[in-house]
Amino acid sequence: MSTQARLVVLAGPTAVGKGTLVAELRRRHPDLFVSVSATTRAPRPGEEDGVHYHFVTRDRFEELVRGGQMLEWAEVHGANLYGTPRGPVEAELAAGRSALLEIDLDGARQVRTAMPEALLVFVVPPSWEELERRLVGRGTEGEEERARRLATAKVELAARAEFDREVVNDDVARATSELEEILGLAR
Ligand code: 5GP
Repeated sequence: MSTQARLVVLAGPTAVGKGTLVAELRRRHPDLFVSVSATTRAPRPGEEDGVHYHFVTRDRFEELVRGGQMLEWAEVHGANLYGTPRGPVEAELAAGRSALLEIDLDGARQVRTAMPEALLVFVVPPSWEELERRLVGRGTEGEEERARRLATAKVELAARAEFDREVVNDDVARATSELEEILGLAR
């Protein structure tokens, strides 16, 4: 496991491949703690409650926020609420193990404020054209949703300077190895 336990936040424009990198990290390190976010959006085919997300109603989400149980939360793509349950992350860090969050820019900024010792990592595409291609290629969203996500991605890319580290997702194996190094995980 890690030599030094730390909270690592992975952010970056939509469809840049964060999910793929996290999946590969988990495959290589089954013990790595990856936070399961809560969201008000509906599950996509194949998504499981408690595994990919905790799927909750808006009422329940707002209750968790009011109760101080979210480390950070944000409305993403102007549509749904997403947030990081505080308890599991704090427990992991208290036990001396690293924790990984995959969240949006808003959330990353909130973590920076709440936990200044967190390491913020920004995943970037090899090029803007490649990002557009990946967004179209995924094909799970309608035209309007896709346009909204591209607009969000433009804003998000402009924020790269706020991050501690940048990882170019040009190749999954290579980018994952770079993340291993950042997380202090041995191969
Ligand atoms: P998706 O709906 O495609 O699963 O995720 C949409 C966006 O929500 C992604 O950009 C992802 O980073 C962000 N997201 C997922 N979980 C969280 C969270 O717990 N907090 C915040 N702030 N953003 C999240």
